[in-house]
Amino acid sequence: MRKPKLLIIGTGLGGSALAQALLPWAEVTMVDLAPAQIAALPPLEDRGRPANVAPLYGLGLGGTTQFWHNGLIPLPPRAYESWPYPASTLAPYVAKAYPLLSPASAPAVATASQQLQHHYAELGLSGAPLGETLYYPHRRRNLWQYGKLATRVTLLRAQALPCDERSLSASPQLTVQYPDGTTASLSANAIILAAGGLVTPRLLQPIAPQAGYHYEDHATAFVGEVMLNPVFTQLWNYQPRGLGGSLRQPFVIGSPLGDIAFYLRPAYHAPGSQANQRRKQLTSTLAQLRNQPYNPALLWQLFRRADDLADIASLKLGITLPTPYFSLMMMASQPPATTAGVGGAWPACWRNWSLSDAALGQLQAAVERAMAVLAPLSQQQFIYSDWAQTLASSAHHNGTARLARTPAEGVCDSHGQVFGSHALYVADASALPSSSYANTGLTIAALALKLADHLKERLNA
Ligand SMILES: Cc1cc2nc3c(=O)[nH]c(=O)nc-3n(C[C@H](O)[C@H](O)[C@H](O)COP(=O)(O)OP(=O)(O)OC[C@H]3O[C@@H](n4cnc5c(N)ncnc54)[C@H](O)[C@@H]3O)c2cc1C
Repeated sequence: MRKPKLLIIGTGLGGSALAQALLPWAEVTMVDLAPAQIAALPPLEDRGRPANVAPLYGLGLGGTTQFWHNGLIPLPPRAYESWPYPASTLAPYVAKAYPLLSPASAPAVATASQQLQHHYAELGLSGAPLGETLYYPHRRRNLWQYGKLATRVTLLRAQALPCDERSLSASPQLTVQYPDGTTASLSANAIILAAGGLVTPRLLQPIAPQAGYHYEDHATAFVGEVMLNPVFTQLWNYQPRGLGGSLRQPFVIGSPLGDIAFYLRPAYHAPGSQANQRRKQLTSTLAQLRNQPYNPALLWQLFRRADDLADIASLKLGITLPTPYFSLMMMASQPPATTAGVGGAWPACWRNWSLSDAALGQLQAAVERAMAVLAPLSQQQFIYSDWAQTLASSAHHNGTARLARTPAEGVCDSHGQVFGSHALYVADASALPSSSYANTGLTIAALALKLADHLKERLNA
């Protein structure tokens, strides 16, 4: 029997997870930008608040998985209120996504997470529910490389151009442009867009009026500091034997915006100290060095700062130095935007991520409640008066071509098929209907694996 021909636009997390699940059953062609095309892209215009990592960072083979931290966290149950199906439908694919992204299985992570939550309860953190646990494998995975896709798919270095009516047909077509400026029209049994949460909606905008709406990202900031029993230090970056990674545990405050997660992170200066100013930055020196290991300014910085040295000891050596001081990091759900969050006359791109004053007020109330939860355990507390100024979006652009029950509510049906199309699909962050406070990677991979099953069933028929 002839294999179905599938065309995947983008070799990032969603595209590579999908390709691995489809091979060898399908003949897969993948398209991703050539280096010269990446260099020539017009800069993104950020109209709202900034992101803590430049948007459109991590283009090229592997997409953002070239640089990501690979922190894996399942969506909390409340997130599924905005999804077209219940958590139980995606659960088997979330479990399948773990071995693709990490050395540990879903049950191993769940067991370790229960242990960690038990330790927090023993220390008396009981005033708020504990959220889903974030698992960081020691080694991140670039999914394009991990799947050895260079030898298994046909790769075209080209830029996909926005869809038109031909993309909606039973033999969908899409135009791509090569670095020399020539174009070609490609067709396949199904075309899957996986160009990321900021680009996929712009590819869809000519044929899907809702594309670019419902943009979500996570509002993130260090919001304050507390002094606690130093024994809490042992629970930060918790590394049970045999897990091949470490765990971080938030507690959660409910709010009209959705769930707001708070993480306690060891700090090495007293609450309110001037020396903590730098802690407000969301990107640590160590995280920057991961992608620029030979940058002399970063190396110099690293060896002058107690916090950074402590980060190395904890993250690289697994030794967290005891301290009574902790920073409080907030990772907030955002209600989906009701106006377009992404747009621009191709190839220009603007992004508008913002929070209303009312939303900021709700976040302030959540910060105060988080501090109240810690009050019985803490000797000193300090809320930054300017945390709202440092608040930024994360690198989790999602929702811009979201799954929905009807075309009025989103862009794709529950499988990821674009409404009104015969065989045009989405398999990246833009398909998420909501992400609550959870980093998006694990859910993107799970959705891609679910779509692979759907395509196998549909195209085998
Ligand atoms: C520094 C960093 C750290 C992160 N850490 C985490 C983390 O710890 N945990 C987590 O869950 N998430 C994390 N994320 C977010 C996560 O990586 C992304 O949400 C996810 O990888 C996005 O996957 P995607 O498939 O939507 O798109 P991407 O991985 O961005 O892939 C999109 C691909 O499409 C290609 N492309 C774009 N335009 C075109 C075009 N016109 N034609 C052809 N190809 C095109 C791009 O080159 C790219 O390869 C992080 C992100 C960054 C940047």
